[in-house]
Amino acid sequence: MKNITVDQAGCIGCGLCVSTCPDVFELGEDGKSHVKDASKCSECNCQQALDNCPSKAISWGE
Ligand code: SF4
Repeated sequence: MKNITVDQAGCIGCGLCVSTCPDVFELGEDGKSHVKDASKCSECNCQQALDNCPSKAISWGE
């Protein structure tokens, strides 16, 4: 299964991925995006979120 991840060091907290895939990403208290449920990736636009991330902080893990 694809396992989407966010590089915490790279994320600038713009919120774009949260807007694109609210079931998968959420902004934490640290102002960075976190993956809350990677299993929802098949139902949403995670590839779009990955492509549009301004800091290229999203990637597909193993
Ligand atoms: S789109 Fe990229 S930089 Fe913006 S909140 Fe999501 S992971 Fe962070």
